[in-house]
Amino acid sequence: MAWMRRLAQAGIRMGAPVARQVASWLAERHAPHALEAPLLEVSRVSMRYNDVLALEEVSFTVRTGERVAIVGPNGAGKSTLLKIIAGVLTPTSGAVRVYGQSPGGHLCIAYIPQRTAVDWNFPVTVADVVMMGRVGKLGLLRPPGPKDWERVRQALAQVGIAHLADRPIRALSGGQQQRMFIARALAQEAELLLLDEPFTGLDLPSQEGILALLEGLRSQGVTVLVATHDLEQAATHFDRVLLLNRWLIGFGRPEEVFTPEALRRAYGGHLRLLYVSGEWVAVGDTCCEGAPGA
Ligand code: ADP
Repeated sequence: MAWMRRLAQAGIRMGAPVARQVASWLAERHAPHALEAPLLEVSRVSMRYNDVLALEEVSFTVRTGERVAIVGPNGAGKSTLLKIIAGVLTPTSGAVRVYGQSPGGHLCIAYIPQRTAVDWNFPVTVADVVMMGRVGKLGLLRPPGPKDWERVRQALAQVGIAHLADRPIRALSGGQQQRMFIARALAQEAELLLLDEPFTGLDLPSQEGILALLEGLRSQGVTVLVATHDLEQAATHFDRVLLLNRWLIGFGRPEEVFTPEALRRAYGGHLRLLYVSGEWVAVGDTCCEGAPGA
């Protein structure tokens, strides 16, 4: 089927994690939800890539509807953790449960990779990419029907880019690219949204637009986990923050977690702390200043 072939190709070009997620949906759809189980439970997860230990015994639980920011220096394991929660990577040890089941079979998880992981020159339209969110519900054999296209149209309208539906994805700005992926998650009817560095490279108004969109999803009961470098944004726009540097340094409300001691443990000497009006304020992660691409 031409549409399926195009979407599958797009899935592959749009980052291997996305393609693997589509494959896992098709292989094992409709994992049942144990409603008494927490939305997300991460238990003693460790991840080793050959000789690199990326995560060590990380455990935490997230409740339905929360907004959680995952913060830590470069190489802290933020992307690895999101990919394990999405079910696109299997941890070396430990377990992830989404409503009591392993994440691989869940249609309710949407993973949005870093924008650099996507081939933006691939010849598909914005609506095609958002339709990818319906693939798990459609299965391999049924082509999208009018209801699916209506769902795509609604999702694009909700994120404010309905007018871009027929544009090729290469024509989008950074903020519009993120909106398109959020629309794909909405078309999928995702309950857990995982975003890897969605604000990187966006100007401030675009960042604020995405933050407002994510906040708006709260009323739909969508839970949001975001990996970000921006400590101030994490502190001001999220219910809880997860401070990571291979192991979990703190998880809780920003004012509980962002103590000078915890920030020093996460960032070592690379974080600038200022004492302002009686409290410590982190003003930036200096670890990569001057580094290529920083
Ligand atoms: P962050 O997102 O916080 O920057 P990552 O999860 O990308 O951290 O990486 C954590 C560690 O794992 C880093 O040391 C990184 O170099 C390593 N790593 C990540 N992906 C791979 C991979 N595919 N193969 C080998 N090492 C990897």
